[in-house]
Amino acid sequence: MEETFQKPKDVFRDSLGIVDKKGKRKWIFPKKPKGSLHKSRVIVSWILFAFLFITPFIKIDNEPIFLFDVFGRKFIILGAIFGPHDFYILLLGMITLVVFILLFTAVYGRVFCGWICPQTVFMEMVFRKVEYWIEGDSKQQQLLKKSSWTFEKIIKKFSKQIIFFAISIIIANVLIAWLIGVDKLYLVITQSPSVHFAGFIAMLSFSFIFYGIFSWFREYACIYVCPYGRLQGVLLDANSIVIAYDFIRGEPRGKIKKNEQQNIGDCIDCNQCVEVCPTGIDIRNGTQLECINCTACIDACNFVMNKVNRPKGLIRYASLNQIKERSKFRITPRMIGYSIVLFVLLSVLSFLALTRTDIDVTILRTPGLLSQEQADNKISNLFDIKITNKTFMDLPVSIKIKKGKGEIKIIGGGIIAKGQQITETKFLIVMDEEEIKSTISNIAFEVYTGDKQIKEIQTTFIGKIEEEED
Ligand code: SF4
Ligand code: SF4
Repeated sequence: MEETFQKPKDVFRDSLGIVDKKGKRKWIFPKKPKGSLHKSRVIVSWILFAFLFITPFIKIDNEPIFLFDVFGRKFIILGAIFGPHDFYILLLGMITLVVFILLFTAVYGRVFCGWICPQTVFMEMVFRKVEYWIEGDSKQQQLLKKSSWTFEKIIKKFSKQIIFFAISIIIANVLIAWLIGVDKLYLVITQSPSVHFAGFIAMLSFSFIFYGIFSWFREYACIYVCPYGRLQGVLLDANSIVIAYDFIRGEPRGKIKKNEQQNIGDCIDCNQCVEVCPTGIDIRNGTQLECINCTACIDACNFVMNKVNRPKGLIRYASLNQIKERSKFRITPRMIGYSIVLFVLLSVLSFLALTRTDIDVTILRTPGLLSQEQADNKISNLFDIKITNKTFMDLPVSIKIKKGKGEIKIIGGGIIAKGQQITETKFLIVMDEEEIKSTISNIAFEVYTGDKQIKEIQTTFIGKIEEEED
């Protein structure tokens, strides 16, 4: 039998539930979770899986609705294309996300870890389920581990690893679809690895990384690697909602003894909350870094409380202060501060996102040049046009004079604004001298792609400069 996970109260913070006294890893065999919270988590997980697997196939104007092509520096969020030109919006979006996480954690603790984090969702809802299906519940898994290598054990262990690797390949492919899009992924899958060598290596690497994480690394990812988990110590306070054991109600704990008058709390010391824990901790010792808020201990304890006719919720979502003072949820000055910062960031971000256009155009008279006299009493000005095309498509651009007569001569012919590039060119406006009423007059341009007007720009036109007589 595996060593029991429960530790004396005063030493639990000096050791990890997943490491034995010699510093060797203690493999965790959590009991199969069941209960209402687990059912809700299964539903949430399937919604997340649907989002993760279906979204890369959804397109708007032949472009994916989401794309995070880090190497190609192309990002699409809800159909809006962001590129290097929108760096400041993406940076602000990241800062807003970090502040949101800080605020959310200060109030609700690690809810994200238990319900949304891909590591927990895939581990507990996919890989662990496969393991229960093939190897059975906690006790059977432990027995199988200790047993000698029989034919049955080889089949079970081998088939589990094959399925784990197959799922890892699927997850790797989905991740790549989010990064480069399903069309490019299709080419990587269907064509020779030599044609898409980088894509092939990425797929292979991600597959092995996911396989390593979910088949072996497991809770180590949350406890040793995840920076969010490490930050809990500074993000949580006594008013943060965490998964908490009600020690006022539960202590002194003790086993129920029939026909004996006992002066004990509601915890019957059955150890069920410890046996279901995927990170091997005893939540009765208090909030710990290892707790990923998976709610398995709440379900397990509620089941026990039901059996012994005591109220549910001995382990529940609550803050330390709520438990100690039997009080309600309280808003702290820190939460108010984070909320104000978050509100300001969200307002600026919304303004930038809403006023952002796919194409930016600037038109300026070419510096250092005045007007040029042309044949037939005409006069011209040379202008610079700069077009920032944030879309992925090449777009034909045309210019019209809004008011007045004049001819536009684009240097080098028509303008094609290359996708994701800045296009710069020059054009001449040629006007009849008699149309020009003053030395400097206002002129307005309308800029189009196809039939769609994308911008109206006001600038000035310089008329004939009379030379002063000596
Ligand atoms: S499951 Fe509940 S009753 Fe059993 S040990 Fe844990 S806290 Fe106590
Ligand atoms: S203590 Fe409870 S909520 Fe935290 S990881 Fe263990 S089982 Fe999950």
